[in-house]
Amino acid sequence: MKKRIRRAGQRLWIYVLIIGLLFLFRTDIHYMLKEAIETVTGYAVTGEDGTKIIALTFDDGPHPIYTPELLAGLKERGVTATFFVTGANATLYPELIEQMQEDGHIVGNHTYHHVQLSSVGEDIFLQELKETNRVLEEILGKEIEYVRPPFGDWSKSIEQEIDMFPVLWDIDPLDWCSGSTAQIVKRVLDKAEDHAIILMHDEYATSVEAALQIVDELLEDGYEFVTVERILLQ
Ligand SMILES: [Zn+2]
Repeated sequence: MKKRIRRAGQRLWIYVLIIGLLFLFRTDIHYMLKEAIETVTGYAVTGEDGTKIIALTFDDGPHPIYTPELLAGLKERGVTATFFVTGANATLYPELIEQMQEDGHIVGNHTYHHVQLSSVGEDIFLQELKETNRVLEEILGKEIEYVRPPFGDWSKSIEQEIDMFPVLWDIDPLDWCSGSTAQIVKRVLDKAEDHAIILMHDEYATSVEAALQIVDELLEDGYEFVTVERILLQ
């Protein structure tokens, strides 16, 4: 009898211990459960409709070799992105700007000569934006709404002067100075999350290779690639 009571007591302690641990690690359990559901169903459990969205953005192009490679790779995968081009490069390669629009990508403004607001001052910066809009609007036949200020240098007074949305970023893998496809891919995948904007440059072979690998990995992980418009509107 005594033995049975002792055994029941021991069992009770084990239950208390388990419940205590469950309580302590409840967030991990929630996370594990979410991961398990994702693995079993193949769907990502995030966002109201259960889909994680992410945006690839490419600055400084278009480039005569790497941009066509990237456009072909994105098309093959049915993925859209956002390109912040300079007016100077758009003037050199207008057919690539047209191709971007035809493939469903968004084309944004990255100034004419890739200038930094704080170095050139507001007047020149505004001129650079307006001249680039003029070039892009002539090629695309529509108004340009988005701007990525070089170096992320932007000000409220510029925003009052021009009717455009500034688009910064959440993930910067420093692809322009990496030289290693694997390193760029890892830096992005480590930080990938719902509604993130990824900053890359369609100016290097490694960036294009990395971008397409990132697309493959994140598609498999349940992400949907969208243009910045979707990210900013949601
Ligand atoms: Zn840039």
